Amino acid sequence: AKAAGRGKHIFYEPSMHSEAAERQQLENELRQAIERGELSVHYQPIVRTAGEEISGFEALVRWQHPTRGAISPAKFVPLAEEAGLIGKIGEWVLATSLEEASHWPDHVRVAVNLSPLQFNDPGVVAMVAEHLETSGVRPDRLELEITEGVFLADGDSTDDTFAKLKKLGVRLSLDDFGTGYSSLGYLKKAPFDKIKIDQSFVRGAASTSSTNRNAAIIRAIVTLAETLGMDTCAEGVETHDDLQLIRELGVSMVQGYIFGRPADGEITRRLANTVTVE
Ligand code: C2E
Ligand code: CA
Ligand code: CA
Ligand code: CA
Repeated sequence: AKAAGRGKHIFYEPSMHSEAAERQQLENELRQAIERGELSVHYQPIVRTAGEEISGFEALVRWQHPTRGAISPAKFVPLAEEAGLIGKIGEWVLATSLEEASHWPDHVRVAVNLSPLQFNDPGVVAMVAEHLETSGVRPDRLELEITEGVFLADGDSTDDTFAKLKKLGVRLSLDDFGTGYSSLGYLKKAPFDKIKIDQSFVRGAASTSSTNRNAAIIRAIVTLAETLGMDTCAEGVETHDDLQLIRELGVSMVQGYIFGRPADGEITRRLANTVTVE
């Protein structure tokens, strides 16, 4: 009777069990999501501040769950990383994005997010090289977006991977700049071509309450980037006021709803082939 009581108690424990079970369930579903065709890639324009022409598009993965609806990558990418699924999903995103980019004009780039776990996989350079070759996309059209999470791993192999990727000819962007720790040390070590200024500094930067601090931070990042010969991209620009400020501060590229939300491959293909001019 006692054992049954205990069992019952555990069975009815509200949060912990259901939460863990829910997670496990979602993980199992994510494991099958590629085969079931539930994942797709959307593309968001990255626009040159001067002239407003399209420099390229960032590839952003989407999961359309059959019953739960759209699940945000902010939720399922971390889950994929913990479940050991990000390698497979990330490779699928890269292959899909490069195939799509092969249908865009030759000067339009594609930016693909690379999880720190993918970056620190010993096979990453060969994996990237293979998909470049399959797609026929020139290496300098591919930008890999990396967060400073990559630097948490062993230093030597990280340096080695950076060198090999540069040798391959791909471009490297430091994503979410300003949100982590000691980014300046990483900038010194790694050969980034672009710094992406995190949305938290960009959104509302022109508002009167926060103008001074955000603008000052963006200005400092631009100066730093220019000194090191890197491009800058402001993420999350939604309003004309913020765009105007970003432009005044000398940021070289802009990504945000003001120029376009992430859109599917078909819409993007049309946009890439009509709007952009050499
Ligand atoms: P991220 O790499 O910083 O991507 C930018 C995010 O900001 C995207 O969210 C984009 O839709 C959103 N965004 C762009 N402009 C605006 C704007 O003007 N306003 C607002 N409110 N949001 C804007 P999304 O697509 O939900 O992706 C969230 C995060 O999930 C990404 O942040 C990235 O960290 C991760 N992620 C997405 N796709 C992939 C992928 O294929 N691989 C990996 N490893 N991570 C991915
Ligand atoms: Ca990104
Ligand atoms: Ca970002
Ligand atoms: Ca982010």
